[in-house]
Amino acid sequence: MANPGNKDLLMLIRGGKIYHRNKFLKNYEVVIDNDLISELRPLSTEPADMLLAPGDMLVSGFTDLHLHGANGKDVMDGEIDSLQVIANTLLEEGVTGFLATTMTETTEKITKALHACAQFKKNQVHGANLLGVHLEGPFLSAAYMGAQHGDYLQAPNINLLKQWQTQFPDLIKLITIAPELPDALEFIAYAHRQGIVVSIGHTAADFNMTRQGIDAGARHATHLYNAMSGIHHREPGAAAALLCDDRVTAELIVDGMHVVPEMIQFTVACKDLKQLILVTDAMRAKCLKSGMYDLGGQNVVVNDEGIARLQSNDKLAGSTLCLNQALKNMQMFTQLPLKKILPLVSTQPLKILNISDQGHIDSGQKANLVILNKELEVKATFHHGKLVYTQELVNLNE
Ligand SMILES: [Zn+2]
Repeated sequence: MANPGNKDLLMLIRGGKIYHRNKFLKNYEVVIDNDLISELRPLSTEPADMLLAPGDMLVSGFTDLHLHGANGKDVMDGEIDSLQVIANTLLEEGVTGFLATTMTETTEKITKALHACAQFKKNQVHGANLLGVHLEGPFLSAAYMGAQHGDYLQAPNINLLKQWQTQFPDLIKLITIAPELPDALEFIAYAHRQGIVVSIGHTAADFNMTRQGIDAGARHATHLYNAMSGIHHREPGAAAALLCDDRVTAELIVDGMHVVPEMIQFTVACKDLKQLILVTDAMRAKCLKSGMYDLGGQNVVVNDEGIARLQSNDKLAGSTLCLNQALKNMQMFTQLPLKKILPLVSTQPLKILNISDQGHIDSGQKANLVILNKELEVKATFHHGKLVYTQELVNLNE
């Protein structure tokens, strides 16, 4: 790989294929000026700072809206240092932005985690951008709590949300909630008015109750199919309501375990691809070996295949999935061309958060970029125009 050049100069990346607005361009090059893409243009005769191999692809950085931890650290540690480790680690899988996702815990512990996220976000220099917080709980159903801690579940509480919003303005971007809980519909309507993305998940709601949640303002589905009533032809549950409603975007954990490949095919057959995103729901064991880990105060065993289950009841407990692997699985399970599914990890998660200054390779956009090879391995990641990860460097360090 060529020298990336002096950071104060323009940087020219050439070769391979460049992903632009749902298609791959050949014989184009990208000019980066500080932290922005200044130009996407046909090949020039100027010397390039970085040359892509013929099969390589330059794509927009990825965003993960559902992520608990990585590399031994978890958002619920409530520590700035943990968030830095997570943010740095994510660059290796092409992720340049994420929502730090909390778990159902005591109000004090969640508040501590929010405090760390707010501080980190304000001063962050390195690593994938912490774009905000996804509150996964405590307003969830006891019947579908998955790996969430049952002792700390609460009824939806608008006053608590108001308190957090006053303390941490503009930090909470997404809230997972079970719409059947007491006062949930009022809570959903309030949060929606505040500009927070309300997501239905960890819910025992049936089809009609879920529809009421959507009518109240819920616009997203937390790990569709997991921790909710499923699809039966005489009992269409929450999953069916979320799947067939165009107002709703949905997360999928495409590790082949949380949702079987056949159901991924079913999903793309009935929901517009533009309404789907891939998430990892990864916990602290992401990037580490098999063993015992903590997730929100509960023991989780990660086996040699990277599958994480609660020690107490064998329930799936988050994942150790990487987002580039999720993309690869999605391609394998659906047989859809890569150009059609790339937005599920790049543009679409950002669109859900109403972020429009990044997610495309186009002039004026933030230069958050990833170089992928044909196998969708991440060869390099650029964050705000700087080369922050290369596979080669990692190999040299081994
Ligand atoms: Zn989760």
